[in-house]
Amino acid sequence: MLNSHCFRLDAADEANEWHTQATDLLIRYNIPITPVCYHVAYEYVTQRHGELTRIIDAQLNKTGHLDSHFLFHLFENLCLEGAENDKLDDHLADLHNLLFKVLEGVTNNCSQTDLFSETLLNQSHALDANPSLEDLRGIAQTLMQATTQAMQNNRMLQDHLESAEEQSLSLQSEVKKLRDEISTDALTGLFNRRALNKRMHELVEAHNGASTPFSILMLDIDHFKRFNDNFGHVIGDEVIRRVGLIMRDQLRDVDFPARYGGEEFTVLLPGTDITHAISIAETIHQSVAKLILIKRSTKEKLPSVTVSVGAASCRRGDSPETLLERADQALYQAKEEGRNRIVSEAEITYM
Ligand code: GH3
Ligand code: MG
Ligand code: MG
Repeated sequence: MLNSHCFRLDAADEANEWHTQATDLLIRYNIPITPVCYHVAYEYVTQRHGELTRIIDAQLNKTGHLDSHFLFHLFENLCLEGAENDKLDDHLADLHNLLFKVLEGVTNNCSQTDLFSETLLNQSHALDANPSLEDLRGIAQTLMQATTQAMQNNRMLQDHLESAEEQSLSLQSEVKKLRDEISTDALTGLFNRRALNKRMHELVEAHNGASTPFSILMLDIDHFKRFNDNFGHVIGDEVIRRVGLIMRDQLRDVDFPARYGGEEFTVLLPGTDITHAISIAETIHQSVAKLILIKRSTKEKLPSVTVSVGAASCRRGDSPETLLERADQALYQAKEEGRNRIVSEAEITYM
């Protein structure tokens, strides 16, 4: 199920030490010792998963805290990655095998056809050599047999091709489904962090060699913890999901909305300068403010949802990290200035 890190056999004394450290870490932050949280904590203390270590360290530096949601997201986005890829590889291998079998079938049929041509040729030579009535009967019989055999072979090949086509179509749709799953966040249907990293690299790289603008937004739900604390995590999840839906509704096809983690989102806006990016942020901001959520069981109206947004535009020489960092600083400033607002990188004064 999990990626290759999981299957390494650690030496007993090392493993014991890591087990203690992982458990201590979970206890320190009051995180339940579930298999998923334990797995992420164990990976973290071993320091062997570079990106996972970096993200947890950054979170600890930023908030001084970890929780089970955060670990769960890391698990989904980083630890399951290998497993999903393995599944995809399996399907691609199946597809390859299938095509190989079809080719084998065709090759086999061709050699049967060669045999048929050879039989025809032999019989035509026999016809040339003044055959007796008995010979003619023999030739006719051989030809009948060869023709029946050739027809049977063709029928088999056709069946083979038809079933191969069916299988190939279903495998192709399976591969597509898996590809989508690998890059989709299950709760919101937006792209996940893994897909975001990939697209971000592509767009930053493309931008460095071109003059078209490229901007990004980082968006965080304000005081989200209160929804969880006052109404429970299921409602909290619903708030995240609805904000995700609004973002998707407001964005263009070229835009790339992703759930960065928890109640944080990132939007990549190719071909968009900072002024346009801010007007897109305003549209999302206003639509979220109009969201009315009612708790079905009690008909209670939930407090309004607001978001803070940081916007930044790609500069020559930027890496995905430096660009994200500026958008994050702008978001941080939006929070510091009272939340429920949009801040552009040009307004950053905090460092
Ligand atoms: P701020 O305005 O500063 O952003 O405050 P906040 O309360 O929104 O942010 P904070 O980082 O303090 O809390 C975010 C909470 O979101 C903590 C975490 O337990 C919760 N959380 C993270 N992921 C999920 C999730 O997938 N579902 C739910 N229901 N809660 C989550
Ligand atoms: Mg928040
Ligand atoms: Mg947050």
